[in-house]
Amino acid sequence: MTIKRIEHYINGHKTNGVADSHQEVTNPATGQVTGQVALASQADVDSAVAAAQAAFPAWSDTPPIRRARVMFKFLELLNAHKDELAEAITREHGKVFTDAQGEVARGIDIVEFACGIPQLLKGDYTEQVSTGIDNWTTRQPLGVVAGITPFNFPVMVPMWMFPLAIAAGNSFVLKPSPLDPSASLMMADLLKQAGLPDGVFNVVQGDKDSVEALIDHPDVKALSFVGSTPIANLIYERGARSGKRIQALGGAKNHMVVMPDANLDKAVDALIGAAYGSAGERCMAISVAVLVGDVADKIVPRLAERARDLKVKNGLELDAEMGPIVTSQAHQRITGYIEKGVAEGAEIVVDGRDFDSSVTGEGCADGFWMGGTLFDHVTPEMTIYREEIFGPVLACVRVPDVATAIQLINDHEFGNGVSCFTESGSVAREFGRRIQVGMVGINVPIPVPMAWHGFGGWKRSMFGDTHAYGEEGVRFYTKQKSIMQRWSDSIDAGAEFAMPTAK
Ligand code: NAD
Repeated sequence: MTIKRIEHYINGHKTNGVADSHQEVTNPATGQVTGQVALASQADVDSAVAAAQAAFPAWSDTPPIRRARVMFKFLELLNAHKDELAEAITREHGKVFTDAQGEVARGIDIVEFACGIPQLLKGDYTEQVSTGIDNWTTRQPLGVVAGITPFNFPVMVPMWMFPLAIAAGNSFVLKPSPLDPSASLMMADLLKQAGLPDGVFNVVQGDKDSVEALIDHPDVKALSFVGSTPIANLIYERGARSGKRIQALGGAKNHMVVMPDANLDKAVDALIGAAYGSAGERCMAISVAVLVGDVADKIVPRLAERARDLKVKNGLELDAEMGPIVTSQAHQRITGYIEKGVAEGAEIVVDGRDFDSSVTGEGCADGFWMGGTLFDHVTPEMTIYREEIFGPVLACVRVPDVATAIQLINDHEFGNGVSCFTESGSVAREFGRRIQVGMVGINVPIPVPMAWHGFGGWKRSMFGDTHAYGEEGVRFYTKQKSIMQRWSDSIDAGAEFAMPTAK
């Protein structure tokens, strides 16, 4: 098999950069190395930022409608190539092809939103704030902005960032995850074909060192990060110290409450899809089922049966429901959590470690496989309840009533997503009002907000206060300027020493 080289993309061209450092890229379904991704040095980051800085003046001066036209063309190209992107995701991430198609589609939503940038950048205007004086606000781009993205959505999460950043007139440096970097170059190529000037969008491949070089670079004005909480926290603190604008989205432990009056068929479907879809490697995956009253006795056996029957196989097989785990290290980490769950006294109802990987497909014997795991009688003190596992492990916690469910969730350190299944309007309303979580679903297991609503968790699931994409995304990538004007025929003679007021 040929091993492909995955390079940086700087100033409109692919380049291996100056650092002679690489990392292997593996297909998690087969365990085979398929690529070598370059790892940027400080000098490589410097040249990407310099290219972005050089491109900024002309791009930010380009009228918004013309920037939007590039986005429209990009949208057309994305639609023409969406399955190639999805296949690249499945080959490096492992998620099933239909899920990868969904990821690309949700990214495309943001590009559609970004096509409306002329309207989104429109400012406010007040005529005659005082006699002969008008005041208006305008939003201007920041300059070079950077995005650092996780392995679990190699297309969608970068698209939470760069379409709006670029459409708003910034230039952009993307640092994708080195685990599945190929899609970043495909997007760069489509942007070039769409007519984006060289230097406006750049990609530096790499890991910790390139991230630190980006945070510390004086010409990087703002940084969007999506990844685990410890790194999000670190980036927020380090970036803030040098006065940068930072939005850093972190990890999660998402609960789904099932009330006794819920439609239990729908709740079981929702839990199975949201816990085991993408092998639980979603920041909005449901990892805790909070089963109220007698719900547990009714649905745990059904969840067990469905978890045992999951079709776990190579994501390129059309009937696959769950693919492999992204790396052997992640596989070990998840296995370690399962061992801890057993040791700390949770009841293991289905053990994903027992999975027979011979059913996963041809050539997949060395892939990173495990089945879905289901725990019951999990308590809030247990490690598998407190920490993010980021794998196909669902923990069931039994509670007596909705008030206890809400308290349990509000006490958790994470607050990304949450869901409540109920047929009661008043329970749903109360839940929505009282819950301390950023994104709430009522009878919706994974309530990822649409492109124009913005995405962001609360508590230790997000550092910074402006959510990704939506109008908050536009605000993040622009700064407000207020202009007040008066012309000489309305200016009073003489100096004024008192605070000016409306006259
Ligand atoms: P990660 O934190 O390991 O990596 C994220 C990015 O940071 C990558 O680009 C990586 O190269 C870089 N990085 C890794 N270590 C670093 C370090 N020490 N210093 C600086 N940069 C570093 O996360 P991951 O494993 O790629 O992704 C999974 C995590 O991302 C999970 O915790 C998941 O919940 C979270 N996530 C959150 C959201 C959200 O919107 N809140 C969305 C997707 C994923």
